[in-house]
Parts: sequence; C-alpha cells; structure tokens
Amino acid sequence: MSSLSGKKSHITFGIVTDVQYADSEDGTDFSGTRIRYYRNSLNLLKNAINDWKQQTDRVAFVLQLGDLIDGKNNKGGEESSHRALTSALNPFQSLKSTPTYHTIGNHDLYNFQRSFFLESSIMNPSLSLSIETSPSSKHLYYTFLPHPKLRIVNLDTYEISLLGYGDSPDDPNFLLAQAWFREHNGRENVNDVDGLEGLERRWAAYNGGVSQQQLTWLGQVLRKATAREENVIITTHVGIKTEYRGYNVCLAWNSEEILAVLADYPCVIAVLAGHEHSGWDHIDPHTGVQHITVPAVIETEPGSNAYATARLLDDSLAITGVGTVPSYSIKLRYAIYSV
Ligand SMILES: [Zn+2]
Repeated sequence: MSSLSGKKSHITFGIVTDVQYADSEDGTDFSGTRIRYYRNSLNLLKNAINDWKQQTDRVAFVLQLGDLIDGKNNKGGEESSHRALTSALNPFQSLKSTPTYHTIGNHDLYNFQRSFFLESSIMNPSLSLSIETSPSSKHLYYTFLPHPKLRIVNLDTYEISLLGYGDSPDDPNFLLAQAWFREHNGRENVNDVDGLEGLERRWAAYNGGVSQQQLTWLGQVLRKATAREENVIITTHVGIKTEYRGYNVCLAWNSEEILAVLADYPCVIAVLAGHEHSGWDHIDPHTGVQHITVPAVIETEPGSNAYATARLLDDSLAITGVGTVPSYSIKLRYAIYSV
C-alpha cells in the first residue's frame, strides 16, 4: 500500500486504449477530420508504460481496452499484422511481472480471426491474477479479482459480430450477427450508417454484440460479486451507454440487454470503454454507475498522451488521467475499512 495525497492505495492499475499502432504515415479518421498518429501512438504507449514503471505505488496490472493495432496493417498480409502486434505488445511485456489484460476490438479483428486470440497467450497472462473465469478456448470474456474488494469483468462485444469469423463461417454467433444486421442495415457497405436515425446508427460492422450465454454468465458473476460485496468494474471495447450523448455510431448492438443485467446488481461501480476515440463520461441516474469512454492514444497529439492510473482507496476509486484523459473519483459500493 502506498499513498496518494495521504490516502493509501490498496491496489493500483493502468488504463489505456485504442493505440491502433501501424508502421504508417499519419492519416485521418473516417470523417477525415481527426488526425491519426499511426507511428507515434507507439511512442505514447511507451511513455505511458515508462510512467507506470516509475510510480511509487506499484502498478499491479494494466487494462488495455482494445484496438491495439490498426486494421491497415493487414494490407501487408499476415506477416505485417504479426509484426505490428509484436511491436505493440513489446512495451507491455517490458512491464515484466505486471500482467496486461487485453480487450479485443474491431481493428484487432481486421488483422486476425477471433480463433487467433482464443488460442493466443496474450489473452492468458502467465502471471494471471484470475481466480475464477479466465479467457477460455471458447470465450474472450473473462473476470478476475485483483483485490478482495475489486473485481474486473471484461465483456466481449464482438462475440456476435460480422468480424473475426472468416475461418468459421458456420459459427452460430456469426450467423446470428448476419441475421440481426440484415434486420437493421441493408447497405452493401456494412460500415455505412448514413440515413439511419437514433439508435439504429449503431448498426455498423465495426460494432458488435454479446450472446445470451455471455449475458447469463455476466449475471452469474455479478450475483456472486454482490453477495461477496466486491466492487465491480466492467471493461468493454464498444460502449454500452453512448446513446446518451447522441453518439450512437459507437454503441453495442444489444446494449440495452447488457444494461438490464447491470441494473440488477448494485456491485457495479464503473464501465470503462474504448472505441469512440474522443472520449466521454456519464453517470447513469438510475444506477449511479459511472460510464467512461477513455480517449484514444491514436488520435492524441505528439507531446501529449492518453492513459490513466487508477487507485483503489478506502472508499473510492481514484482515476488520475494524463493528457486527454480526465480524472475521476468514483465512490465504492462496498468501502474498505482498514484496521
Ligand atoms: Zn474500435
């Protein structure tokens, strides 16, 4: 335990998202208005990790919320994708005994099939803090308990997806994704949402959803966490409440079903998402849950940065943002009383 303004941190961890590294000249987002710094994103990641290495209170683990490498790497074929992934993983591996927990995003799935990640050791840190469900050979969602009063629950918002099933076209989740998608977006370009209104704007292939099986698992995890009085942070690549801002183009396809499960259990204190790049936050007035979309590294100017360090204090989670990431103080549902 160490201190932040005189308050001891029971456990400290890092948060970073949307590095989208590519060995490529700078470009822009799909709208052509926001610059993407493809090579420099790796420098910003290294700076973030160097900062974590120098923290006086040891960073126990890192949450990487998805899109570690950019889809454009796949233009150079599989070798290029592997080269980019190796480059982007190197900084995390330099943390040595500090594991990184990865979330898979759409750009990751532009480079590799989901079967690659299901089998990859990057999804199963060897120094795992997991005590219950780790990513398995079947699922990319998982939970772990880094502190008796803090549980992380990672959702896979591309389980029902048009992405990542190229080598398993008969997978029921891929077939279900196609059926759902056809009901909402009949365009040839599956990422075109022009003309769609309101929540329908989420029906782009760069978003996705979760299965009933995952929702059932989520409910079981949250029920146990509530009984054990564990504070829960949900991590996800695609946000589940961005509609509040009118930014429906980055929203999980069945976000309402996920929110309904969360609303049943008081243990959830925060939802951390990536994917939307500019970042936003909102406290759900019904549940008190703090939703945060963490700003992307890829669209952060050289000289600035986009990451955060979170500390579990006696009665709050203090998230200290750097650069484009704001800071937050989130009240714990179950306080930690020190003797
Ligand atoms: Zn994304």
